[in-house]
Amino acid sequence: MQNYINGRWTPSLSGETFSNINPADHRDVIGQFPLSGANDVALAAQAAADAFPAWSKMPAPKRGDILRRAGDIFARRMDELSRIMTREMGKTLTETRGDIQEAIDTAYYAATEGRRLFGINTPSELADKMNMSFRMPIGVCGIITAWNFPIAVPSWKILPALVCGNTVVFKPSEDAPHSGNIFAEILEEAGVPAGVFNVVHGAADCGKAIVEHPAIRVVGFTGSTATGTSIAARCGALNKKVSLEMGGKNAQIVMDDADLDLALEGVLWGAFGTTGQRCTATSRLIVHDAVHDELVQRLLKAAEKLVLGNGLTNDAAQVGPVINQRQLDKILAYVEIGASEATLVLGGNRATDGDLAHGTFMQPTIFTNVNRNHRIFQEEIFGPVLSVTRCSSYDEAIELANDCAYGLSSSIYTRDVNRAFRALRDLEAGISYVNAPTIGAEAHMPFGGIKGTGNGHREGGWTAFEIFTEWKSAYVDFSGRLQRAQIDT
Ligand code: NAD
Repeated sequence: MQNYINGRWTPSLSGETFSNINPADHRDVIGQFPLSGANDVALAAQAAADAFPAWSKMPAPKRGDILRRAGDIFARRMDELSRIMTREMGKTLTETRGDIQEAIDTAYYAATEGRRLFGINTPSELADKMNMSFRMPIGVCGIITAWNFPIAVPSWKILPALVCGNTVVFKPSEDAPHSGNIFAEILEEAGVPAGVFNVVHGAADCGKAIVEHPAIRVVGFTGSTATGTSIAARCGALNKKVSLEMGGKNAQIVMDDADLDLALEGVLWGAFGTTGQRCTATSRLIVHDAVHDELVQRLLKAAEKLVLGNGLTNDAAQVGPVINQRQLDKILAYVEIGASEATLVLGGNRATDGDLAHGTFMQPTIFTNVNRNHRIFQEEIFGPVLSVTRCSSYDEAIELANDCAYGLSSSIYTRDVNRAFRALRDLEAGISYVNAPTIGAEAHMPFGGIKGTGNGHREGGWTAFEIFTEWKSAYVDFSGRLQRAQIDT
């Protein structure tokens, strides 16, 4: 497996590689990928800079047509690509198909945006003068992503960046590199010219080189808050635009009037779907006293029946592996912390039954009696671990949900319409759901978070195009004389 630079598949200049394995079965080696560094990034950035003039001058509707074809190819390759993705990062085939569907939706949305990219015209303060403003591409975009949505998350950045006329250097996560290469194959087949889209594989050093490279004018990052914050500091020093999508610690509130069947389904999916490895995963369940015991009892019964397994070989699997040993160790360390703070009522161990022993599987884990001062209430664990906290009123529920350094997603289960709307107003998060779990973003809606989750940008929908364009204000004076703004009015 190689880098994709200027339309060609090339090894890293150093010849160094890293291997990627299937987290559900460590005996299955997916491949060796180039361990790229600053020199490889420089080649990719140069190719992207060289490709920029022609690509940015292509009419946006034509760029959109190319992206529509990319959406068609993602759809055509759905079965094959979902298997590749399940193999490299472990979530079930149903979920990896959803991941690809999100890229298809994003491609079709970006395609139509090629015919919008609206500007704004305003009256001039002077006679015989017109004011207009329009969007311009920025240049080369550096895209750095996490492994948990190997196609969907890159698509949220890459496709809007491209339709706006930018070119791209993309570094996929070192835990999900194969999908990055498929992304390149699909864009190439769709008609994206050589150099417009480039893939460099590697780890933190490769990401740092992207941030540093002077030709790269904007950085789009998805990953942990620690990494994102360090990238933002560097981009600040280098005067680069940077968009950050980072960690989460999302709460689902269940009020005393909630439909408990629905709330139960919601928390099972929110907490244990994708093995809890979603930035929007439900990691805190805040339950009203009146329904706490009943919901917890039912939750324990349902969660212990969840089937762990390798999505490629076990059609019944509902919960896949944790991405790697480092992440499993981190989760197990949090279980120890949690056990010293609260009550462990389910799971807590690595799962090693039968074939599970070949991968990094973690039992679905639930803590009760968790309070706001506990580390498992406050810190992102990024695994199948759920904390349950009691509340006795709406106000307390909201206060608990908001008592957190992150602000990505949130949810409330209630049948009271006034309370539902109050919660939409009161929850400190970029995304709030009523009677639905904390996961489930749609491609045409803004996506992102506040506080420790983001830096004010939103991917998805129309807001992504703000990230990847600059505004130009243009004035046309057809009076035939000098008119001085603010003076000759
Ligand atoms: P991570 O921060 O370790 O790595 C993310 C990417 O950054 C990888 O490609 C990595 O190689 C690269 N990287 C690492 N150090 C770097 C550096 N110093 N400079 C430049 N690049 C660097 O995150 P991860 O473990 O891959 O992903 C899990 C995290 O991602 C969780 O915190 C999760 O919440 C977050 N996430 C957020 C969203 C969102 O949209 N908010 C979506 C998915 C995942």
